[in-house]
Amino acid sequence: MCEFCHKHGEGKKWYLRAENYSEDLLSDLKRRKFIADFFSRAEYHPEGQTKLTKLRTMPGFVRSVLVPYLVGRQKKVHFGQVLPIEDLEGIFGFVTSVIRLPCICRHVNLGTEQRFCYGVSLMPQGGEMRKIIEEIDMDYLTGPNTSGLEDLTKEEALENFRQYEKEGLCHSVWTFLAPFIGGICNCDRSDCLAMQATVTNGFPVMFRAEYVAEVDPELCNGCRQCMRVCQFGAIGYSAANEKVFIDHLRCYGCGICRASCTKDAIQLHDRASVPVAANLW
Ligand code: SF4
Ligand code: SF4
Repeated sequence: MCEFCHKHGEGKKWYLRAENYSEDLLSDLKRRKFIADFFSRAEYHPEGQTKLTKLRTMPGFVRSVLVPYLVGRQKKVHFGQVLPIEDLEGIFGFVTSVIRLPCICRHVNLGTEQRFCYGVSLMPQGGEMRKIIEEIDMDYLTGPNTSGLEDLTKEEALENFRQYEKEGLCHSVWTFLAPFIGGICNCDRSDCLAMQATVTNGFPVMFRAEYVAEVDPELCNGCRQCMRVCQFGAIGYSAANEKVFIDHLRCYGCGICRASCTKDAIQLHDRASVPVAANLW
């Protein structure tokens, strides 16, 4: 299990622990302010990108001190972890309500409203999280219902997630002052600031899933569809045996490749059972 499970999970996957979504955690005024600021400061995020680029080009010795410090701070306030559809189904087994809202990353990167972010709550109609966001007067929070928030049933949300997988989008859960989990995102490396920070800039804020993928060579026909959808460049092709293989050092365990395989040739295994990836987050 990852460090977040050890710290926030009490023996289980931390994002499958209902307490981490509780209204009790939302009674913390500091956390409420953090959430309000986060959704109010969409224009801050491009500045964040510039800072990340600066961080990437800093001398090695400066980075070696600064990056661990900044990542440690990020793990306390706002970080994400990749997870596959079966664990999302687990979360939807105990949350009560789902609201969909526009994605800040796509707003910043594309200048358009694209609704790939989902707030989940143990309370009906989004509970306190909904109230906090509704009080924010932000132009980008437009759309159905009020303040850009759109009520979905859990079944509708899960159906959307399954469709996103087919389109190659990677699921992740996100904290707002850990361990509180306020949302689920569906990310594409070309648009997601967190994926870009993590994979492109070497500043990890979005951590690997509890799984890694494996290909069954007996079932694989070498069509390479899975290679096209992997956001992390973790799939290679062997011309010698005309099949694909997974680089476990690169695999984030999202399961998107699995959704694209018509031969059912890809399975997810517990990360802990794959020695080379066991402690890689
Ligand atoms: S999509 Fe499936 S069958 Fe096609 S290359 Fe990938 S693992 Fe093999
Ligand atoms: S190889 Fe790993 S990172 Fe790439 S799509 Fe499959 S599960 Fe995700």
